[in-house]
Amino acid sequence: MRGKATLAAGLSLTLLAAAGFCRERSRPNIIVITADAMRADMGGFSGDGEVKTPHLDALAGQGVVFERAYTNITTTTPSHATIFSSLYPFQHRAYSNKARISDRIDTLFEIMRGAGWHTAAIVNMRWLNPEVSNIVQGVEELARCRHVRGAAATNRWVLPFLDRQRDGKKPFLLWVHYVDTHTPYRAPGKYARRYYPAGRDPRDPRFTSLAEAWKQFPAHHRDNEFIKRWLGGITDVDYVIGTNKGSVSWLDENVGRLIARLRKNGQWDNTIFLFTADHGESLGEHGLWFLHGGLFEPTARIPMILKAPGLPAGRRVETLVSLVDVMPTLLKMAAVPVPAAAQGEDLRPLIDGDVRQRVVFMEHAGAYLRALVTPSYKLIVHRRTRNIYPAYPIRKGRVELYDLAADAGEGKNLADEKPKLVARLRKLMGEIRRGAKVSFSAGDAELDDQTRAMLRSLGYTE
Ligand SMILES: [Zn+2]
Repeated sequence: MRGKATLAAGLSLTLLAAAGFCRERSRPNIIVITADAMRADMGGFSGDGEVKTPHLDALAGQGVVFERAYTNITTTTPSHATIFSSLYPFQHRAYSNKARISDRIDTLFEIMRGAGWHTAAIVNMRWLNPEVSNIVQGVEELARCRHVRGAAATNRWVLPFLDRQRDGKKPFLLWVHYVDTHTPYRAPGKYARRYYPAGRDPRDPRFTSLAEAWKQFPAHHRDNEFIKRWLGGITDVDYVIGTNKGSVSWLDENVGRLIARLRKNGQWDNTIFLFTADHGESLGEHGLWFLHGGLFEPTARIPMILKAPGLPAGRRVETLVSLVDVMPTLLKMAAVPVPAAAQGEDLRPLIDGDVRQRVVFMEHAGAYLRALVTPSYKLIVHRRTRNIYPAYPIRKGRVELYDLAADAGEGKNLADEKPKLVARLRKLMGEIRRGAKVSFSAGDAELDDQTRAMLRSLGYTE
């Protein structure tokens, strides 16, 4: 009798476990990759014929490419704060890489952890560590940044993590931060010269292009010991641009390795996979060299590719989207409630063919500039006066308006010609700000000497 009861109890436990296991299996894993400062116009998936990205192209073929995706702020900490909270910068109040967001903000990690996901992240800038930015609140397993970690070293942590999750009872949420596309661009080995003419010497003293570009560097870059070391001896600016392109192909190679491991582990089909960037990068447009200043297209636009169970393959969405949309989209797909404070929208209806008109609101570090992008125009409003960029002075009260369809290079300011449109867009900007009911306070984090040095090494002021 006793034996039978034990057997029955054992059987029912087994059945329950099996049922539970099935339930767990149906909940998708989520991976968010942010390629720091990667431009939207590089790689085959973006329509670019030069920079080779076979793995991202294959990902695009299996998922959805958002062709007009924008950041909401062009600096690393503020932008990641937006990705993982669906709050605009004027709400989370992080406006620099020194900022520390409020504990009261509900991050994607906290929400998913509460819903039963195992949460993990690997960050590769020191100010993304929890004691500085506080963005990773809710992350259970964190690979902190001590020193700079390139994509290969990042994968040396990520791939074993994926292996460990293979038999995990819980689905996981993993954020992978790659920094290879951020200055100093990392294009190791064959990637360094892949997009530079064979036989040309980037140190040939007859080239003057880098010296010319150098004059347009912000003062804190011209005198920066790390930037001098990075670019020292190079005379041809095209070589540096080539290394940026090479860094994209190198990153692609490493994303390919990550995807291959997910496939090998049998995790791929049940994983929501988002590839995006925190902001873009200017490579000389408007006199802005090797930085993400200003709100012009090279810096403001980002790549965004989403693959998930049940999503149509090979779809391309032209409607405007931005980083505030990331969290609601991921939560909806995981069937986890979206918090009322979220400012973005679930992008699934757009994927399914909804062609509604949308706008994107964005800001510049330090709240110096604000911009509104519509399907046709971009309005940029200067809110303070700052002489950071010699070729692009920021002047309080200045307004720029560009017709993005007719003038993709944003060369002709139409603000004086179209005052009514400017007024309408300014009003819309105000409505977006007033419509956001929730806001938090952020403080400046305490920075240690190593973090200060790292800020300088990547071209930031303290
Ligand atoms: Zn960044």
